[in-house]
Amino acid sequence: MTEARIGLIGGLSWASTSSYYQYLNEMFDDDANEWSKPPIVIDSIDFARIVALQRIGDWSATGAILVDSAQRLERAGATVLGIGANTMHINYDQVQDAVNIPVIDVRTAVATEVLAMNEHSVALLGTKYLLDGTFYSDRLEALGVALIRPSTTQIDRLQTVIFDELTNGIASDSARIFLHDVAVSCIERGARVIALCCTEFGLLMNESEKFPVVDSTKAHVRALLAAIC
Ligand code: GLU
Repeated sequence: MTEARIGLIGGLSWASTSSYYQYLNEMFDDDANEWSKPPIVIDSIDFARIVALQRIGDWSATGAILVDSAQRLERAGATVLGIGANTMHINYDQVQDAVNIPVIDVRTAVATEVLAMNEHSVALLGTKYLLDGTFYSDRLEALGVALIRPSTTQIDRLQTVIFDELTNGIASDSARIFLHDVAVSCIERGARVIALCCTEFGLLMNESEKFPVVDSTKAHVRALLAAIC
């Protein structure tokens, strides 16, 4: 029998891939053996290539890079795959069609955790690409989650924080305060849960806030681990 193995398309950015690796190990639950950890193979992409293509909106070229990575991971023995970024789920269908193993969808993982809280109204926080597009929101809405987006000005500043700081591994106090303010303003507008749909947002906010938080990285990791158990 083939050994179950998680494959992660990483480097999207390195900062969040590092969180994925940490959570995959920390959240793996094997009562029988404390030293037991999940088999993982990570393919780390040069993020500069992705950023350049995102800026010009060439999503078919980003898809080709992700497909390459997914196929490398499948050849390396992965039995399930994760794309380690919310934004890059814009290429989810292309990636899933190119491999013979399941690609665990972060959008489903987030929606599942929100619905498990018995909540339906969510503040969607992420990159401008994710918030301006429909590939993410359509999926969440189809699963029964209603969305509240930040204002246009807030979305622009989130984008700056993500690309100037977080994806370079920088978590500043000013960014922490800003993300908190955005979350509070969405709660005031009726959101019941804050969905951190950028895999680096965990560097700035966790579940210890006064409002409920779903961190997409952790939700995705739980879904990936469930897929190999
Ligand atoms: N990791 C981020 C996300 O979850 C943003 C970086 C990217 O655009 O891939 O969307």
